Amino acid sequence: MDYFNYKDNRLFAEDVDINTLAGKYGTPLYVYSKRTLVEHFRKIKDAFEGLDTLICYSIKANSNLAVLSAMREEGAGFDIVSGGELYRSLNAGADPAKIVYAGVGKTKEEIRYALKTGILMFNVESAEELKTINNVAKSMKKKADVALRINPDVDAHTHDYITTGKKENKFGIDIVLARTLFNSARKYMHINLIGVDMHIGSQITTVGPYLEAIKKVAAFIQELRADGAAIEYFNIGGGMGIIYNEEKPTTADSFAGAVKPLIAGLRLKIILEPGRFIVGNAGILVTKVIYNKKGRNKNFLIVDAGMNDLIRPSLYGAYHKIIPVNVVKAKVELYDIVGPICESSDFLGKDRHLPRLDEGDLLAVRSAGAYGFAMSSNYNSRPRAAEVMVSGSKYSLVRERETWSDLILKEKKTK
Ligand code: PLP
Repeated sequence: MDYFNYKDNRLFAEDVDINTLAGKYGTPLYVYSKRTLVEHFRKIKDAFEGLDTLICYSIKANSNLAVLSAMREEGAGFDIVSGGELYRSLNAGADPAKIVYAGVGKTKEEIRYALKTGILMFNVESAEELKTINNVAKSMKKKADVALRINPDVDAHTHDYITTGKKENKFGIDIVLARTLFNSARKYMHINLIGVDMHIGSQITTVGPYLEAIKKVAAFIQELRADGAAIEYFNIGGGMGIIYNEEKPTTADSFAGAVKPLIAGLRLKIILEPGRFIVGNAGILVTKVIYNKKGRNKNFLIVDAGMNDLIRPSLYGAYHKIIPVNVVKAKVELYDIVGPICESSDFLGKDRHLPRLDEGDLLAVRSAGAYGFAMSSNYNSRPRAAEVMVSGSKYSLVRERETWSDLILKEKKTK
């Protein structure tokens, strides 16, 4: 469900014609629909009603300040994984008491920044990190609130690169080791162990892996409690999948319906860290055809967005629907839609049927709101795209297109 629809054969974001935005801001252009964003947040929030729940939007999916402030207005907290994400969330007006901080490689400097800010808690991913947090907190004469991130060793049945809860993954702490760590954590004078956390992967379309993991982690929480631990929070992570093509992901209601019976009796505050579910279908990437190139075996639509703008197809073989911005009656042809970058892996979609398109025609890559702009780069010295947020019939440029001079701004020639 989203608000990118055709009206009179022209694609609109809510009430704004995509042709208008492309004309005004150029391409490649990310366009977000605030209504789609907010409604997805509310779907999760409403589904968990009745439980004491904090939804921490996972900034890594899309960290534009306009997205963050829309989430803040809805009462969301934030899930961060770096000092930079903390800086961004504070700039968007986030309440530090609603920020949780995960990530396997937090540096001392980042830990200090988070302690100074007064975040809700760190999701600790190793014994070594716990020790470092204790030392940094000690040097600041503070106590750090932490949750242990458990690696429950379950298969989330998603792409290998976005699986995070199997024992061979670098994330979280093995449940047996966590037990030992819990005992040593008690000796740390500058650590308050207040929570237990898990996050098993991304683009998970069934609830089964969550139930398996939650059962394991809930049993662990009960053991800790029996040992006298004052656990207040259970963070069940993010990862809920969306429709890119033909997937039939669990809805927020059925997800919550299945999960609630396992967590309600724990009488804990529940944290969720959704990213993709909220923002994935709230964004499109608009791109323009540069050439319609006839190859020997293939027709290529060479467009002005490349893997530096949207890396998901190249990185994970991810599928994004690609549709024309203007519906025309023309002969349907088979195309590979590729970018201008000098890599054979630079494609947005392969073997797509589209009406014949030519130089200057616009295409929209759907479901590009999550891990789209956030993963973009300047590869091939390409300035990054602009971003626009639409709300009803209003729109605003929420990130300017980079320029060629931006590309060399931080660089110096040797003498
Ligand atoms: N929480 C953590 C710790 C993550 O690593 C991620 C993404 O990998 C998320 C939340 C958000 O995942 P998603 O965007 O799939 O909801």
